[in-house]
Amino acid sequence: MTTIDHLDAATVRTVAESHGVCIRPLLRELTDTVTGETRVVAIPCGSTRGRVCGPCADKARRLRMQQCREGWHRDHEDEPTEVDGRDQEEEGSAVEAASRRVRSTRRRQDAPDLPRVPSESRTIGKQLTSPSGKTYRPSMFLTLTLPSYGKVLDDGTPTDPSTYDYRRAALDAMHFSKLVDRFWQNLRRCAGYRVQYFSAVEAQHRLAPHLHAAVRGVISRSVVLQVIAASYHQVWWPDFDQVVYPDLRVPVWDERMVGYVCPYSGALLPTWEEALDQLDVELEADPARRPAHVVRFGKQADYKWLIAHSPRTSKVVGYLTKYLTKSVAETYGEHLTSRQQAHLDRVNEQTRWLPCSPECANWLRYGIQPRDAEPGLEPGACGRAAHDAANLGYGGRRVLVSRQWTGKTLTEHRADRAEVVRQVLAEAGIGREDLDQFAADATDHQGVARYAWKSVNANELTLALWRAAVLTLIRQRTRWREQYERAKQAGSTTPRPPDNQPKPGLRPGGQGWPKAIAQRREAPLTTWPENPPSNVGRRRPPAIGKEQDS
Ligand SMILES: [Zn+2]
Ligand SMILES: [Zn+2]
Repeated sequence: MTTIDHLDAATVRTVAESHGVCIRPLLRELTDTVTGETRVVAIPCGSTRGRVCGPCADKARRLRMQQCREGWHRDHEDEPTEVDGRDQEEEGSAVEAASRRVRSTRRRQDAPDLPRVPSESRTIGKQLTSPSGKTYRPSMFLTLTLPSYGKVLDDGTPTDPSTYDYRRAALDAMHFSKLVDRFWQNLRRCAGYRVQYFSAVEAQHRLAPHLHAAVRGVISRSVVLQVIAASYHQVWWPDFDQVVYPDLRVPVWDERMVGYVCPYSGALLPTWEEALDQLDVELEADPARRPAHVVRFGKQADYKWLIAHSPRTSKVVGYLTKYLTKSVAETYGEHLTSRQQAHLDRVNEQTRWLPCSPECANWLRYGIQPRDAEPGLEPGACGRAAHDAANLGYGGRRVLVSRQWTGKTLTEHRADRAEVVRQVLAEAGIGREDLDQFAADATDHQGVARYAWKSVNANELTLALWRAAVLTLIRQRTRWREQYERAKQAGSTTPRPPDNQPKPGLRPGGQGWPKAIAQRREAPLTTWPENPPSNVGRRRPPAIGKEQDS
């Protein structure tokens, strides 16, 4: 028993938060293959959700701000690159669709009637010169919304829930990311250059997703509005407006038939492919047949010009990333009124039971076997993100960044930030071992084969282990901060990014600083062999780097 064991959890948490230290770290076993020494190391959880881990979510948000700022007003092109990944994707999917079905012929006629402008290969905006001779390079900030589903009050809830179109609202949210993709494709066709963007999906007060986007360069307002109005996405799925199995008796898997059968007749349900073939037949017989769903933008759109490095631009960067630490559904904050709760429940009721994708278990309700059907599917229990109550039907990525925005992945942006600190320390002659060890989530960057990382056995979480892990991180953080400050005072002029300034927190040994932390210099976890090592919190850190849209 050490004194640390007597610190209450709330105190440890407060101290951790005031130092920007992860409150639910993961534990990993680190082996030095040269010396054979093994120890347990705490690694920040890396969550992007404030509810899960405030300090990590804040750090992730600041990284996004940096990414947003860095790409917005670029004035130079990167090395010539190959074709943008997104465009390759478009072409690939068009070819695939064309070779498949009659339906696809219709789909290819989707391209809206928009002026097509020859495209230059540049990704940066044009520099303009004012009459006074001053030059500037403007950019855009856009907001795209979905249409109205019925009148709403100031609190975001419908005036009349019985006429509010919840089904359409849910389907629009589920297909919102496809619509946004179409928008960027269409905009590039009309813009004359390879438009780059940094965008974030948020929920409006009425609980419909909308998109905020920083766009490099400027396109005229009338063209942008024209593209918004002309963009749409058609969902060519079998119709699903009639629920065939509404109650608890849903289709069951039949081993003998190798598929789902009707619970009443025992007849095999049509497979996904058969249902699509049927759709083709119907399309040929009736060219006016409509797709199962069409999603378009609403009339509300926001369009602004911004100038590089102006205070207004910084404000917008903050605004764009403001809600990234919250889930889409947290738009009403902590305390919902009964009307808001009821509205949220009605949205979730829809998003739970509608099909999210061809593979969705909810197709069984409509008498169709989902694509690649397997035993164990249960309507209302599809595990895909669109049905998650936190997402309000939107199952896509929260942050969508085009490939040539900065030309860097999030991991590379993260390394940039670490490098600033590293330079200061190096100039003052301080070794980088501590820093590298702390940046355990960036081990692949070091490329050092000397250290072997292993997950720690997932035994049950103990409060003592959690405390020890968090306190280790606090101690490390404090030590570096001291080193960093000393190094800076020693004459280094290397700047620190404005969003990476030290937080005013408890000073080591100062008022409110727990004695137990001050007394211990070494990581306590290494001295606890009698304790079964354990994973604390989530088992795997989320791969933030993969959020990069590509
Ligand atoms: Zn964390
Ligand atoms: Zn689903």
